[in-house]
Amino acid sequence: MKIDLEKLSIKSAHNHLVKGDFTAEELTKNVLENVAAKNPEIHAYIEVFDDCVASAKQAQNTIDDGKSGVLTGIPLAIKDNILIEGKKSSAASKIIENYTAAYSATAIKRLEAEGSVFVGRTNMDDSAMGSSTENSAYGPTKNPFDTTRVPGGSSGGSAAAVAMGGALGALGSDTAGSIRQPASFCGLVGLKTTYGSVSRSGLITLGSSLDQIGPIAKTVSDAEIIFNCIRGVDPMDSTTIPEAQYLAAREEKKVSGKKFTIGVPLSLIEVPGIDADVLENFKQSVARFKKLGYEIEEIELPNVSYSLAAYYILLPGEASSNLARFDGVKYGLKVAGEKLLDDYHKTRGEGFGEEPRRRILLGTYVLSSGYYDAYYNKAQAVRRLIANDFHKAFASVDAIILPTTPTPAFKLGEKTADPVAMYLADIFTAPANIANMPTISVPSGFVERDADSAGRAGANKVSLPLGLQIMAPLCREDILFRLGKEFLGE
Ligand code: GLN
Repeated sequence: MKIDLEKLSIKSAHNHLVKGDFTAEELTKNVLENVAAKNPEIHAYIEVFDDCVASAKQAQNTIDDGKSGVLTGIPLAIKDNILIEGKKSSAASKIIENYTAAYSATAIKRLEAEGSVFVGRTNMDDSAMGSSTENSAYGPTKNPFDTTRVPGGSSGGSAAAVAMGGALGALGSDTAGSIRQPASFCGLVGLKTTYGSVSRSGLITLGSSLDQIGPIAKTVSDAEIIFNCIRGVDPMDSTTIPEAQYLAAREEKKVSGKKFTIGVPLSLIEVPGIDADVLENFKQSVARFKKLGYEIEEIELPNVSYSLAAYYILLPGEASSNLARFDGVKYGLKVAGEKLLDDYHKTRGEGFGEEPRRRILLGTYVLSSGYYDAYYNKAQAVRRLIANDFHKAFASVDAIILPTTPTPAFKLGEKTADPVAMYLADIFTAPANIANMPTISVPSGFVERDADSAGRAGANKVSLPLGLQIMAPLCREDILFRLGKEFLGE
């Protein structure tokens, strides 16, 4: 049986499974056929798991017993930095290339309890550092809309897997945009959750105070389904938010029935790096919300423009400390030298890609005695100012909207020689992580760019998707889902 996977949502697949239109095994086999046909070129998956048909059969038993949840038998793609017990997990880095996970991430355990099927592990930037998936130790992933372009990063493999019909949804991780930016480059929905709403246990850490696991999916409803399954307090992660506190935030302002005011920080958006048609697309999104009956209010967020600068002090600091454990002794790769110090130098020099090495140097510097106060502590103070800007703004507006990225998907190789140009891809996504805010990226339309001979056959123009970000106060993912669904007409 042939299932059309390109448009199939999790929600409708669930309905088909329950009605018996197809079985979980048929669904997974269709996905695997698609992966076999497309993955050699797109390279979304690093590894396809050999037990996914077996898990689909098991899920079918649950469905046959009438005990299925919405995610039972649903094929999902998992980013290579999220641990699944017994499977390799390498964060696409040579330094832990052959690491086999000793336990599963909490998010994985929750999906497993629902009977989800894990298709495989997806490509990403080395250690989740990057915005294009070109930093992977396994080579780049290509954008399914135009294979001469990047899918975004660092969760580029997860986004490309869903966009090519190689999974119905995916898990990614977002430290400054790594879920939302690839979702927007691949025409999908990506959710960066409130810091602490999803457990980080079993996520290979990049920046402990910034990372969150979250879903990439075709619709807002699908992202909501995955979020509801994986969220919640976890004794394995002391930063997770207790349920009572989470629900209290929702009680503060009820959503139902009320029309919202949406804040637009125009002075933050009209920056020189934004493409004219991306700005135009954003203005059309503002108009769409107006037409839906929302109040639009222009707001100022005076310190938010420092988000990226603060991020590139804080993140390297945290990353340099987190990655110190990969030393050739405790985990992963070991390149032996003459004496212990040589082992460290050789292992870390050969095991980490160029970007992690750059950030470890930078991070070690900003945390060093003598510079700690001038850089890391100063950036922490700026972080507080940025968070305060958002809290103040949310006193008068219910949500804030921003473009997800300043440009559509760029060409492979276009920014690899210029790290700062690559960092600027996160200009609109970094603020949410700095301020811990929940933010969703939803598809907002297309812009045209030239396609060269390697682009889509027969076309000299290619349509590339864009994304709109909706931000809400802490713990208010419900607002994101409501506005996102209205915006997309779901
Ligand atoms: N592109 C950003 C970086 O390189 C974001 C990474 C992420 O969100 N994991 O750090």
